Amino acid sequence: MKLNKKTRKGLINILIILAVVLVFVLIDFLVVNLRSSPAHDKEEILGSGGNLSIDISTMPAITSEEKLEPNEKVFVPVLNFHHVGTAPAGVSATTKTYYIASDKFESIILEMITNEYQFVFVSEIIDLLEQGIRPPENIATITFDDGNISYYKNAWPILQKHGVKSSMYIMTGVSGENYLSDDQIKELFETGLVEFGSHTIYHPKLTKIAPDERMKELEQSKEELEELLNTEINVISYPYGLYNDDVKKLAKALGYKAGLTFDQDAWQDPQDLMEIKRISVYPNLNVVKFLNKLKGYQTSD
Ligand SMILES: [Zn+2]
Repeated sequence: MKLNKKTRKGLINILIILAVVLVFVLIDFLVVNLRSSPAHDKEEILGSGGNLSIDISTMPAITSEEKLEPNEKVFVPVLNFHHVGTAPAGVSATTKTYYIASDKFESIILEMITNEYQFVFVSEIIDLLEQGIRPPENIATITFDDGNISYYKNAWPILQKHGVKSSMYIMTGVSGENYLSDDQIKELFETGLVEFGSHTIYHPKLTKIAPDERMKELEQSKEELEELLNTEINVISYPYGLYNDDVKKLAKALGYKAGLTFDQDAWQDPQDLMEIKRISVYPNLNVVKFLNKLKGYQTSD
């Protein structure tokens, strides 16, 4: 085929335009890819299962800008666990309910992931609610009380394997082989997958003790954790879930932004962050089914 001068010039122009477009696409591709994997965001996470590198920067951040309506309640499941693993022989039937077998724990996590739940820290939810922003519908948190060593031995390897965040509340005055050591707390905190909060110093019933003792339990535990982790501690998990108006007021005055109690419910009142409801996960609780039931049976107004 013979092309005349005009056609040839037209074809060359088209080729030049295509080349320019190709260069732009390539530059765009490179910029996006370089941006999405900054080296400093890579966290090396070491655990009993060997080396595992989790890129925290690829974890979905909470993206929500919708403002809450006045008096609107929000569906935010806050699950609570005490022990992961097998209960020691001879413990009471009640104590046994605080133990969730490792495989059951992992199946809960996996089922929630399959159902598109996104695990975040309690503090992340509090930050949103404080700003009057509605959290995404599929958000959930995993909390642990008491700083038991079974967390380190059994729960953490599973959470780490699946890149799941959890929030742990510890007593700063209780130590020994059954509890997380300061070094373990620091090690977990530095992975970026575990946040810590106060569970007082000695785990008293805050509603039953004298006001000065109550003050010390709330204030000193906060300060000790802040010093250990060099970060602000602003969530208190009330021992036994016990609180009253005095406890809430005092905790707030001391700088806590949220207080956690127990209630088998997930509808939270953003107007009262000192009373966040948590669901106790017992061995025979089908978590996803239970959450679906909660979601369906109540409305958010
Ligand atoms: Zn406790």
